[in-house]
Amino acid sequence: MTEKYQLDTLAVRGGIERSQFGEHSEALYLTSSFVFKSAAQAAERFAEREKGPIYSRFTNPTVSVFEQRLAALEGAECCIATASGMSAILATAMGLLKSGDHVIVSQSVFGATVQLFGNILKRFGLDTSFVSATDVAAWQKAVRPNTRLLFLETPSNPLTEISDIRALAAVAHAAGALLAVDNCFCTPVLQKPLELGADIVIHSATKYLDGQGRVLGGAVLGKASVIREGVFGFLRTAGPTLSPFNAWVILKGLETLRIRLEAQSASALELARWLEQQPWIERVFYPGLPSHPQHALAMKQQKSGGGIVSFEVKGGKDAAWRVVDGTQLISITANLGDTKTTITHPATTTHGRISPEARAAAGIGDGLLRVAVGLEALDDLKADLARGLGQS
Ligand SMILES: *Cc1c(COP(=O)(O)O)cnc(C)c1O
Repeated sequence: MTEKYQLDTLAVRGGIERSQFGEHSEALYLTSSFVFKSAAQAAERFAEREKGPIYSRFTNPTVSVFEQRLAALEGAECCIATASGMSAILATAMGLLKSGDHVIVSQSVFGATVQLFGNILKRFGLDTSFVSATDVAAWQKAVRPNTRLLFLETPSNPLTEISDIRALAAVAHAAGALLAVDNCFCTPVLQKPLELGADIVIHSATKYLDGQGRVLGGAVLGKASVIREGVFGFLRTAGPTLSPFNAWVILKGLETLRIRLEAQSASALELARWLEQQPWIERVFYPGLPSHPQHALAMKQQKSGGGIVSFEVKGGKDAAWRVVDGTQLISITANLGDTKTTITHPATTTHGRISPEARAAAGIGDGLLRVAVGLEALDDLKADLARGLGQS
């Protein structure tokens, strides 16, 4: 199916597996285990001489359909679904790395990812260097003989910094390491890291893939030789597997992924242009704007700027909070990728536990706001933000 059809077709029909009832919508197999016809068949299944499900910690047909469909969209040979985006990153590290290995991670990754590599995995002997998302030479310089993995997220959160996937894949491969890209903000609709040379794609399916803020989920994609043994081996044993119910919800989300993301991205571009015109705005961060420092690179590796716009309002935290508190429509919540627009003040929420100095060094000012644009009418969103702007 993968070679024959385009993305839109794969998004609604990829990986379909009908039961004997011939249901049109994909079936939800809400079952923890599967029944065998005989003792002999059970033995064959457990010995992996016969294909088929055993227990939903290992595989489940609904989860498999989700995996096949996402693999088709990313152009990946293999996809392993996980309970959340964070468990996708954990399973990648636990499945592919060992004590004494060295990892290079972009310093602009999701906060929990920083904690995972910088604190938790460090306790198990994994050494991590954090480097600038945009400085390829810094990645090169950080390489050591025991470097096994390079990990990045592009565009980054909340400043929408762009990492050069092709250049960093070259750095990784020259070092005998793998490149993993968290493709959460773009999804395969806007960016295909594997085509740009990455070895592994990570998803928090909680965001755009579900797209309606309902369930948590994640995935790891890449060559079967890279992830089937290690990542799946860890997952089936340790257990942060995707529930069939969540897989079914996200599977249905994939069917509308392209039209949602393109609409959200178009709205985000308009909103970013409008924000740039407002006198109370210090600066707008959006890869689709020519004023973005890596606009050219973004437009080369992404189809469009995506649905996330960040902006610095004049007047610091108080002015930023007035914008947040002035909203009547936009939701004050940390989630993103929803059909409903959300707003956050990173310095006091997602990045609140980082020291003020480190926050300033990362460019996250006290006046910074992040908006994840949904599907509401653009004029209503502008009016909602304008209420709190310039009220100081
Ligand atoms: C939300 C997020 C994650 C973590 O995903 P969960 O599903 O919340 O575990 C990882 N990376 C990025 C870029 C995210 O936005």
